[in-house]
Amino acid sequence: MHLARYPRHFMAHLPTPLERMDRLTAELGGPEIWIKRDDCTGLSTGGNKTRKLEFLMAEAQLEGADMVMTQGATQSNHARQTAAFAAKLGMQCHILLEDRTHSNNDNYNHNGNVILDHLHGATTEKYSDGLDMNAEMEKVAETYRAKGKKVYTIPGGGSNPTGALGYVNCAFEMMGQFNDRALKIDHIVHATGSAGTQAGLVVGLKAMNANIPLLGIGVRAPKAKQEENVYNLAVKTAEKIGCPGVVQREDVVANTDYVGEGYGIPTESGLEAISMFAELEAILLDPVYSAKGAAGFIDLIRKGHFKKGERVVFLHTGGSVALFGYNAAFDFSNRWVS
Ligand SMILES: *Cc1c(COP(=O)(O)O)cnc(C)c1O
Repeated sequence: MHLARYPRHFMAHLPTPLERMDRLTAELGGPEIWIKRDDCTGLSTGGNKTRKLEFLMAEAQLEGADMVMTQGATQSNHARQTAAFAAKLGMQCHILLEDRTHSNNDNYNHNGNVILDHLHGATTEKYSDGLDMNAEMEKVAETYRAKGKKVYTIPGGGSNPTGALGYVNCAFEMMGQFNDRALKIDHIVHATGSAGTQAGLVVGLKAMNANIPLLGIGVRAPKAKQEENVYNLAVKTAEKIGCPGVVQREDVVANTDYVGEGYGIPTESGLEAISMFAELEAILLDPVYSAKGAAGFIDLIRKGHFKKGERVVFLHTGGSVALFGYNAAFDFSNRWVS
């Protein structure tokens, strides 16, 4: 397997740091906790989509695209990173934003990721939820093509075999960091949504025969559906990189007990995770993805699923700019002392 065989436009600040979280470790009294800082990939406040976009946007350029199009929820981090990447490459960017939360909150609809989409020059249009958004996007792309634009469409979350290469690469990068620092790692945990992150990681880890269990904490779909989505994409990604069959169905594990009411709706345990990471480690999570991932991670430590004597890594997938779209989820009136 040789990733240099695939077109790539280098953009992310890599390698991202791997850091020990001493105060969170002490607070929970369980395993030694480390964090892989993919919130620090550098592009317009960072996040996991930048690794995928390095491969996707290179493919767009190779195909001669002058416009990229993608879709996501209103506060999509993927949309924002795509808009930023397109700006850097001088491409037009159009985004379909799906109203998955039905929020009327002004910050949710205009601040956070949305203001950054627009600052980077992207155009947006709003869709009600429940549609096949990738199909809707193809329809819109056809209208631009009819006007002479060369449109490259990117599926939601950048999750196809090309995008997943970014996380095959992240698996290699992490393994290098573990080995160089003599860190024996027992588990890797992260938030999983459109599946590209987990699919790429599981392919990379299995292809290296790392023997490190990977756990995705779901933010939307039920367990069976989430695992099926990840597995199907992992199979295609493994074929793409010339390692067909390297991932078994049982290598794909998702825990979807921390979704709460639904995608993009903050949970109590997620808000607790945001506070803990912010106050103990000065790390910013987001309410939609990384907080729910961290909530599951913390709960599984408290329940003894990850134990003292083990060393675990939480992969921080980014998203903190969404906090500014979700300020209504927090009550800080008691922080004003006068
Ligand atoms: C997209 C996203 C995820 C989920 O990654 P997938 O590859 O879509 O599964 C996790 N965290 C954040 C902050 C994201 O933006």
